[in-house]
Amino acid sequence: MPTFVIPAADQPAVPTSSGERFPVRRVYCIGRNFADHAVEMGHDPTREAPFFFQKNPDNLDPSGQFPYPPHTDNVHHEVELLIALKSGGTDIPLDTALDHVWGYGVALDMTRRDLQGAAKKAGRPWEIGKAAERSGPVGPVYPVSDVGHLEAGRISVSVNGEMRQDGDLNQMIWKVPEMIAYLSAYFELAAGDVILGGTPAGVGPVVRGDTMVARIEGLGEITVDVT
Ligand code: MN
Repeated sequence: MPTFVIPAADQPAVPTSSGERFPVRRVYCIGRNFADHAVEMGHDPTREAPFFFQKNPDNLDPSGQFPYPPHTDNVHHEVELLIALKSGGTDIPLDTALDHVWGYGVALDMTRRDLQGAAKKAGRPWEIGKAAERSGPVGPVYPVSDVGHLEAGRISVSVNGEMRQDGDLNQMIWKVPEMIAYLSAYFELAAGDVILGGTPAGVGPVVRGDTMVARIEGLGEITVDVT
């Protein structure tokens, strides 16, 4: 078997509720999937086609620590539903899309909002705002066999005990099966792919020393220190 010319990177993975790990292949994130968040970002919340950006698989971080990234002074929290796929394909029909979901978890899409805003204004890609090192704090992924499919339930994040975002999964403009079907028309989805499902209103800044507690009903909570 041919050998690698440099040491291969570790397989990115996130923990599951059983202690085994879920290997991550790709990370797709939907933008503006809650109407009240679209409005707070200055956009029309009507149901236009969804759009996605990507984080890197190794941005997902279960450590409970979020190191404040460089070259920004406006890092925002976005609490999101994490959807972990056990299989994929192309042109997946809506009525079988949920069959591809292995489980669900709590995630934060930490965002250098100042750099994202500058990129938007310049018509440039969002990665510099969205894909910073360890910018995706996550909790354990819970299998569908334990928690079922999540169509409703409170989703929230507090910072130092003060509620910042407080919504319900039933406010998602594009539902989980729709996101899977849509993505699979443009990309080949596969086992290990992860989707972050968008964030409710109330995004805002954190600073070093803050503690975030992100919760989704049925999936528990994660505590993340900004260091
Ligand atoms: Mn987001």
